[in-house]
Amino acid sequence: MSNKHTFVMIKPDGVERGDVGNIISRFENKGLELQNMKLMHISRDLAKKHYQEHKEKPFFNELIDYITSGPVIVMIWEGENAISAVRFLMGATDPQKAEPGSIRGDMALSITKNIVHGSDSEESAQREINLFFK
Ligand code: UDP
Repeated sequence: MSNKHTFVMIKPDGVERGDVGNIISRFENKGLELQNMKLMHISRDLAKKHYQEHKEKPFFNELIDYITSGPVIVMIWEGENAISAVRFLMGATDPQKAEPGSIRGDMALSITKNIVHGSDSEESAQREINLFFK
């Protein structure tokens, strides 16, 4: 695995609102290539593993409730510097601070319900791909 691959999740609010096609189009338009994709309902156990780095944070329980509240789409995307390309398209974690034109800047309001997840490093990408696809 390298910086050519990244893990992306369309969170429950994105699936529920019917924004899956729009979000996928943004990655495709950028030139990234979809390698794998599935719809799934995450268990609390898997959610806690995925967000283990945040387990001491005050928002952790709310985050686990939210991410397990409905189906998500998980994907592997490939392309040059895929990790940073996806992070740039997503925009800042807090949608109130995300640039207009980014996914979170255009489509979300809440720092918890911020519509999309993308790995933040090669190590996270490897770990998250293994967690959801192996
Ligand atoms: N989050 C939250 N409250 C905060 C910060 C983060 O609910 O104050 C949630 C939000 O859904 C975010 C996730 O926790 O996407 C993981 O946070 P991280 O700092 O890793 O942001 P990301 O990598 O998703 O931009």
